[in-house]
Amino acid sequence: MNFIETRGNDGEHPLEVSFSSAILAPIASYGGIYVPKALPELGDDFLQKHVNSGYKTLSKDVLAAFEIDIDPDVIDEALSLYDDFDDASNPVPLAKVKDDLFVSELYHGPTRAFKDMALQPFGAVLSSLAQKRNENYLIMAATSGDTGPAALETFKNRANVQVACLYPDGGTSDVQRLQMVTEDAKNLKVIGIHGDFDDAQNALKRLLGSATFKAQLKEKNIHLSAANSVNFGRIIFQLIYHIYSYLELVRMESINFGDKVYLDVPSGNFGNALGGYYAMKMGLPVEKILIASNKNNVLTQLIKFGQYDLREMSVVSTSSPAMDILKSSNVERVLFDLFGAQRTKEFMFQLDSENHYELNAKELSQFQSIFSADFCEDEEGKKYIKDAFADGYLMDPHTATCFKAYDTCRDKPLATIAYSTAEWTKFSPTIANALTGETDTHDLDALKSIAKEANISIPAIINELFDKEIAQKTIIDKQDIEKEILAFL
Ligand SMILES: *Cc1c(COP(=O)(O)O)cnc(C)c1O
Repeated sequence: MNFIETRGNDGEHPLEVSFSSAILAPIASYGGIYVPKALPELGDDFLQKHVNSGYKTLSKDVLAAFEIDIDPDVIDEALSLYDDFDDASNPVPLAKVKDDLFVSELYHGPTRAFKDMALQPFGAVLSSLAQKRNENYLIMAATSGDTGPAALETFKNRANVQVACLYPDGGTSDVQRLQMVTEDAKNLKVIGIHGDFDDAQNALKRLLGSATFKAQLKEKNIHLSAANSVNFGRIIFQLIYHIYSYLELVRMESINFGDKVYLDVPSGNFGNALGGYYAMKMGLPVEKILIASNKNNVLTQLIKFGQYDLREMSVVSTSSPAMDILKSSNVERVLFDLFGAQRTKEFMFQLDSENHYELNAKELSQFQSIFSADFCEDEEGKKYIKDAFADGYLMDPHTATCFKAYDTCRDKPLATIAYSTAEWTKFSPTIANALTGETDTHDLDALKSIAKEANISIPAIINELFDKEIAQKTIIDKQDIEKEILAFL
């Protein structure tokens, strides 16, 4: 299957591209991104057949339905990376927290956050394409804390790929920062910038679109790509776990096959939620997708009132920093799917030039037939963490936001799959504060006190970070990013 562009075609880009082209060069005409020309219909037969399938078997068949131009042996190698998750036979466990609330844990990979779900296989696919084409790639990533470690982990020491990873200095947890700055491989460059995540993401977008930067890379014989969820190579792996978790509910006999469920997604760049949206369009029985945000509640405003309005907003730091995002890239793919390329281009251009756009009444009601949204402030989030812990479930502050959406966004008593996007180890000071009231703790102390409170041990892969040597020491202003990256190459 081929891929088309969310903002229409400018006469210079091809009208449609293969999957491999879309992931190697993810930016399309007018700054748009790529989407599948049509979504495959899975149908009841497909789902029924996979009720008892393992994660890899299901993945293989979902990918096959997209008819992507990736060799089966490469797909096999990519999916084999799920074998290194905590439980190779079940990389995405589903925990029952209340009668109708189930948590799909997406964090059992090497960097303890949900980004591994897609980036692990994506790294293998991309590196193999680069080798096959005998080309060298620079992968740029902007991170609010979890994409960075996951991208570095998946690409480290892979052939034909170098990574430059931008993170907001001070905008991540200690553990996230250590996961990045202790990565010591010749093909990795980690750059802290003075600014917030949107600054990092804007710098990334500017470089990806910059002709002069590309020309300089060309001289070095290097192509440019991105590992953020603008890349469809991530999205395709993110629709699978929605299907898997639904089938798990059927397997557990918590629902009957065909029953509708709510998907409840802590959202930032909207890649996770978009995966759920596509799964729904492909035939997964979903009542609605609940979009949970933190105080950076631009998605709630969009879904409740049809307004994407950044004019009075600036990013605020919260205790769920992976969701401290105002320009949520993957909303564009939903706009395209619902309203087409012309309208999407209008919206996106207006967002760039005037910092807002507004859905009309009909468009808004289309949105609301699929999504419902609410946001959760830090204090409320801590209460959810504390209450869930009292009920025997330990969760991180991102996951907590969807516990609020579970309370406020459902209008039917249907089973709900909430997604847990990070392990407790990644955001320990907030959790320790929620559980014990202690403040100003550094990650290491907080980890210890949670471990004690919950009577569990700190995973070795987290503990070891604190003794590792810092290999990546660059912290610069945004205007120096280009220079720094060229020097690294
Ligand atoms: C990336 C991330 C999110 C947001 O996911 P999106 O796909 O960008 O919406 C939420 N929680 C955690 C812990 C993350 O790492």
